[in-house]
Amino acid sequence: MNAVAEKNPVSYLVDQLTFNEKVERSLALIENAYREFGETLVVANSLGKDSVAVWHLAKQISSAIRGFIVTTRFKPKETKEFMREQIRAYPELQVFQNDEAIPHNLYAMDPDRCCDLLKVKPTRRAIEDMGVRCWVTGLRCTEGRTRTDYQEVEERDRGLVKLNPILLWKEREVWQYLALNNVGVNPLYARGYRSLGCEPCTRITSDDNERAGRWVGTSKCGGECGIHTRPLKA
Ligand code: SF4
Repeated sequence: MNAVAEKNPVSYLVDQLTFNEKVERSLALIENAYREFGETLVVANSLGKDSVAVWHLAKQISSAIRGFIVTTRFKPKETKEFMREQIRAYPELQVFQNDEAIPHNLYAMDPDRCCDLLKVKPTRRAIEDMGVRCWVTGLRCTEGRTRTDYQEVEERDRGLVKLNPILLWKEREVWQYLALNNVGVNPLYARGYRSLGCEPCTRITSDDNERAGRWVGTSKCGGECGIHTRPLKA
């Protein structure tokens, strides 16, 4: 490994590995973690393209691997319908949603608080209720400005390993994998969305940044809901 690679091995590998090498690496990461964590390894499925790719990879390792979906009252109807389809196909996917009352227009007034209540809180509950010791995500380091500082295997919360098996994949490689494996996706992608979230906080944009359509017009634009940045264990 040269000096550039030593300084930033993750971004170095993004350009060095071929598509097939990345797929093999992702499968090996999930397989090794599943060997260690067994049924306490659980996939977080956001129903976006990256999540369905990770879900498909995980199912090649074991059909018994479980998953959870965190949804909100503000998800687009297409996402809700896609969620129902996924649950019909995979009953081992559990859904978590926070239905508590929140202030009107909280997403506009205080999106951090809204995401904390509607996304982070039910994610914590999923991890607790499902006895998760290793959660598997579809996070990729080329998605945007907030996603460059991650590793494939992390332990940001003590006792909870986070596996990011497609961290090195580019957007194009995700679509390549989904096409080659005939994996169905949320129909909103056909309309031009590149990153999917709640309806009031997601736009179609022409920006190069994949997550630029998220929280447009707020300080959170292109940012994070909090499940990757906030503590998930008490
Ligand atoms: S994405 Fe928007 S509507 Fe959804 S939880 Fe976050 S702030 Fe609320």
